[in-house]
Amino acid sequence: MTFWADEEASLLAPGRDHVIRDSKTPSGTVPISGLRGPIVTDALYRTFRRHGLRIRYLFTIDDYDPMDSQSMRQRAGMAEHMGKPLCTIPSPDPSASDFARYHAERFLETFRTLGIRPEEIHWLRDLYRSGALDDEIDLVLRNADTIRRIYAEVANVRKDEHWLPVAVVCERCGRLGTTYAFDYDGTTVAYECREDQVAWAQGCGYSGRVSPLGGNAKLYWNLQWCAMWDHFGVTYEEGGKDLLTAGGSRDRADEIFRAVWKKEPPIGLVHEFLNVGGRKMSTSRPEEWEKLGAAAHELVRIYPPEIVRFLMLRTDPKRHIDFDPTGMSLPRLLDEYDRCADAYLADPSADLARIWELSQVDERPQPPPFRVRFSIVADQLQMPSVDPFAKAAERKGAALAVRDRADLEARIALARIWLERWAPEEAHFTVQKALPEIVSSLTPAQRAYLARVADLPGTTSDPEQMRAALYSVAREVGLVDKERVSRAAFAAIYAALLGRESGPQAAWLIVTLPSDLVRTRFREASMIGEAR
Ligand SMILES: [Zn+2]
Repeated sequence: MTFWADEEASLLAPGRDHVIRDSKTPSGTVPISGLRGPIVTDALYRTFRRHGLRIRYLFTIDDYDPMDSQSMRQRAGMAEHMGKPLCTIPSPDPSASDFARYHAERFLETFRTLGIRPEEIHWLRDLYRSGALDDEIDLVLRNADTIRRIYAEVANVRKDEHWLPVAVVCERCGRLGTTYAFDYDGTTVAYECREDQVAWAQGCGYSGRVSPLGGNAKLYWNLQWCAMWDHFGVTYEEGGKDLLTAGGSRDRADEIFRAVWKKEPPIGLVHEFLNVGGRKMSTSRPEEWEKLGAAAHELVRIYPPEIVRFLMLRTDPKRHIDFDPTGMSLPRLLDEYDRCADAYLADPSADLARIWELSQVDERPQPPPFRVRFSIVADQLQMPSVDPFAKAAERKGAALAVRDRADLEARIALARIWLERWAPEEAHFTVQKALPEIVSSLTPAQRAYLARVADLPGTTSDPEQMRAALYSVAREVGLVDKERVSRAAFAAIYAALLGRESGPQAAWLIVTLPSDLVRTRFREASMIGEAR
């Protein structure tokens, strides 16, 4: 099977100019699921260029869309702005000139962190107001009949025979979500700002006539899509499943583009949903996911950018992603990431290697640095006597390079947050400062075991060798259950060091902790029964 991004590249004709577009409506905080599209688009763009295709990557900010978010309506001071273009609503804080710019800039900031680099960014407010879309608007209005018919046939949305697919900005109240336009005479349209046009906003009752050009009106969504395709010559545009289902917005736009513009719409894959903790995230209900730390701009502050990219790219876009920062999913994600880095070292053209490469912020990355497994970093952080950098150098058998250190630093920072916020109970442990109470319940066999393994610390620094030694002693003292080394053996080690029955890998624990401490502790624990 071909790698998905290569497969898409093979669908584009070589030798002609291509344009890949992505877009965002800046209507509020973007959840992490909102990064899947941009990261997939960026990976496709990189891949298309790699294939030698002439491709331009542009991003449009749909800031002329009306405010229609129910959750925003409940926020202080927002009710009066419902139905206005996002770019005419005040910013929530003075860092930005308006609401749309505030949210768009926050989103674009995450792009910079993640290495998503559109060549051009266009704001719809500028495109409308400059008259750049005037011809598109005129074309739409002259073909309103056809558009009404396609709305009815493809999407079963029926509009009355006077309806025009543009939203005029009301000259009195500034809303465009509330207006009904009709009667295009080739220069102006008539409109009414209705109280009951939509459920989420109330018009002011004004009616008038105005030119629909130069920013006085906005195309309805499907038509705006078509206008973008035509204006920029878009040939590739992927999109989320919510929009691209059969009979959905994209189908409708495709049909209209063929019928009115007489052109073939762009091709593009459909990406599946990304759920957090088993739940679909909706931009319109931020209260559901903001608590989870699942806002895009927050996530990129916590996770290294290559891990965020990897999360989106390791799964084929046509399959859904279930992301859950809690439990053991993060250590598993990092293990997979390392597996892909190893694949890159072995053969950069393998699929897993490509995923690693496309996950890097730099388009032409250096080979992966020396890495320490994430779960080991998390365990080391819980052992105050252990210096992760010294341990890493010891394992590498050489001083850490600058990139090795940077990688380890990033893992340490992430592991700290994971331990604090998301790690399950069993991932936490504390090396006890004194002999724990729990050792008094050890069996004679367990005590005999500890007496014997007390000789092992310091004999090797290799966890594999230590593990083999722990196994063979367990067999010798008869701590065997159905031919296998019994859990009781390791439980004795955890009891003596951690005061509980489970913990990180026992052999690793022994080679990581100071040998003296382990030796003394095992001897003390083995003698508990005898002291009584
Ligand atoms: Zn009005």
